[in-house]
Amino acid sequence: MEIHAKRLSKVYGEGENRIVALQDVDMEIHSGDFISIMGPSGSGKSTLLHLLSGLDKPTSGSLTYDGKDIYGMGDKELSAFRRRRIGFVFQQFNLLPVLTAQENIAMPVLLDGTHPDMDYVGEITELLGIGGRLRHLPHELSGGQQQRVAIARALAAKPDIIFADEPTGNLDSKSGGEVMELLESIRNKFGKTLVVITHDNRIACKAERRFVMTDGVVTEEGVF
Ligand code: ADP
Ligand code: MG
Repeated sequence: MEIHAKRLSKVYGEGENRIVALQDVDMEIHSGDFISIMGPSGSGKSTLLHLLSGLDKPTSGSLTYDGKDIYGMGDKELSAFRRRRIGFVFQQFNLLPVLTAQENIAMPVLLDGTHPDMDYVGEITELLGIGGRLRHLPHELSGGQQQRVAIARALAAKPDIIFADEPTGNLDSKSGGEVMELLESIRNKFGKTLVVITHDNRIACKAERRFVMTDGVVTEEGVF
């Protein structure tokens, strides 16, 4: 899947409160890319990820997935597209507290009116090391386990691309390292595109393309 972002800008507020969170960002993401995005807090990293994944719309600019205009879609069409093609992993896990791990994982697929491929979900949960925790509620799991459930949820619909916004930001360095290794091995095994925001230089170094953000502007550091 080819993703082309052209001149993406996002402005919040008006007058004295006006903030340009993102300024004319161009980015091309190719199928199978492993991309890291670094930059100080407030530099626009989350804003960029939300726009690239269709979670939010820009003030101006365009985004296409294989030539299809994402922001031109209606809300329903865009939600369905996102559920099927895009996985998103948040720093705060964002699991539904009243649902078990298993139910959280299946939720996006059920919302789409279909059923998860249980063999595939089984394979993923085993790989993530949460096969024995699926009947537990999120609060009965460690942070690292909750994030692994969130990763399984992001993968359940077999999307082409995974966006992760500081996925290890709420974890200690050991479980953060494990979560990142799992994301990487899943990406390699299933041939996914992976875009990760991180403050961790060790993670950024593993990415094949590295971007740095400063004040809403993105620069690519070079291809490794
Ligand atoms: P980062 O993820 O790099 O920390 P963000 O993308 O979250 O940065 O934010 C970029 C800028 O946009 C910051 O100045 C932030 O305060 C501002 N911003 C983000 N979201 C909103 C919002 N919903 N309303 C107003 N300002 C926002
Ligand atoms: Mg952020």
